[in-house]
Amino acid sequence: MITPDYIERSNRKTLSLTVMKDGNVVVKAPLKMSDEIINNFVLEKQNWIKEKLAFVNQMLSKYDDIANYKKFLLYGNRYSLLIADVKKIETNDFKIVIPKKYEGNILGALKSWYKQVAKHVLSDRLKYIQEKLKLKSNSMRISDQAKRWGTCNSSGAISFNWRVILMPPAIIDYVIVHELCHLVEMNHSKKFWDLVYRFLPNAPKIKKDLKEFGFLLDLFRKV
Ligand SMILES: [Zn+2]
Repeated sequence: MITPDYIERSNRKTLSLTVMKDGNVVVKAPLKMSDEIINNFVLEKQNWIKEKLAFVNQMLSKYDDIANYKKFLLYGNRYSLLIADVKKIETNDFKIVIPKKYEGNILGALKSWYKQVAKHVLSDRLKYIQEKLKLKSNSMRISDQAKRWGTCNSSGAISFNWRVILMPPAIIDYVIVHELCHLVEMNHSKKFWDLVYRFLPNAPKIKKDLKEFGFLLDLFRKV
């Protein structure tokens, strides 16, 4: 039997079970609930836990080098780091070349660089897709949010998490199309998805691929 790594008791009313992105199994339970009820609940959910763990472990091993900052993603490709006598960060032959002056704070320098690239690349791509879809946002900014790839508000302001550019181009386009469709439908109703699928018939498959990259939202978090 798979047992929880953490049981968190608080004055909530219901039981919940989560398999975290790092593979920890977490149960949240009401303060006075008996251990027996919790154990039975976990026992009933064994298959579900196994399935979730298999997915998480597959992702953890597939992207182990990325999660541990040994390699770095850009447009879905892996880059290694090279510290060299250059003036600013540049890419060359699947290497990100970092100036020596950043040696003490490589991840910090990389994060600012990624954000600059994101601003440039995503605003260009947004412009291109807007023209094709005949939709128009009012502004675009780059964010560092913990849970979202993008947002769109009712005044037509769109934001994109800079980490979007770590993913393959098809996923980048999907995130842009998704937020643009919110200019028409400010929700995730059937009408909204119909619109997304009309513009991007391949979106159901891309949505699945995007799930794989959820762990990226935790990257560079404490940098
Ligand atoms: Zn949405």
